[in-house]
Amino acid sequence: MTQQYALEVNDMSFRYDRETVLDNINLKVPQGAFLGLVGPNGSGKSTLIKSILGLQKPYKGSIKLFGTDVNKYKDWSKIGFVSQKANSFNSGFPATVFEVVSTGLTSKIGLFKFMKSEHKKKVEEAIRAVGMEAFMKRNIGELSGGQQQRIFIARALVSDPNLLILDEPTVGVDALNVQNFYDLLSHLNKEKGITLLLVTHDIGTITEKVTHVACLNKHLHFHGKTAEFESLKDKDLSAFYGHHVHVLSHEHGGQPV
Ligand code: ADP
Repeated sequence: MTQQYALEVNDMSFRYDRETVLDNINLKVPQGAFLGLVGPNGSGKSTLIKSILGLQKPYKGSIKLFGTDVNKYKDWSKIGFVSQKANSFNSGFPATVFEVVSTGLTSKIGLFKFMKSEHKKKVEEAIRAVGMEAFMKRNIGELSGGQQQRIFIARALVSDPNLLILDEPTVGVDALNVQNFYDLLSHLNKEKGITLLLVTHDIGTITEKVTHVACLNKHLHFHGKTAEFESLKDKDLSAFYGHHVHVLSHEHGGQPV
């Protein structure tokens, strides 16, 4: 039986006008994986994520979500997305944590004041899942950057996503909270079985948490399990940033795992 991947990127290339920013990307993310996608600034991470979300066209090659081409994919409520927007609400913003999280269900619930109790329960569950139940009635603007990012995850969780994509979610979050934040992601991956794709330019902080690593710098320089990445990290990491490494999984005949 062929394994169904949460995400498959096949021979994918993308260019803005004349500049090719993604060159022949092949990436397979098994269901249940926690993939860290790392690369320096300008390496094409956001462009790849936008393409995966169906927001960046046209490109060469194909992208599939749970076996379906992105251009035909319909079940977007099952794909959660959290972008870099720590501290995006200032202290005067007039919405509670509960209200912000419930906007993740907006298309289903209609007006907030007519929300059904089953939907209220879902929202509360999502807030509990990110450990923010004590803040349910607080104004979102009073929360720190890291707390706000937890709330955005809760907002993505209310529709029970199978895949959660996070684009540099810890920008602007202090170091201690970054660790707590990664613990939360690990928990969602292990306990709830959500496939995660975490985009970051910081390779060092994620290797303890992720099951797979992909290193992008226009090309995919490495794609494999974290243990394999760790075994070559010391000797080849600087080379990755210097664009010299071309390593794929040896065990799998050069195929990404
Ligand atoms: P990252 O997310 O890794 O920082 P990006 O995907 O944002 O990288 O950018 C990759 C490359 O594409 C960079 O060289 C960037 O300058 C360029 N780029 C990004 N957006 C545009 C755009 N709208 N038009 C032209 N070039 C762009």
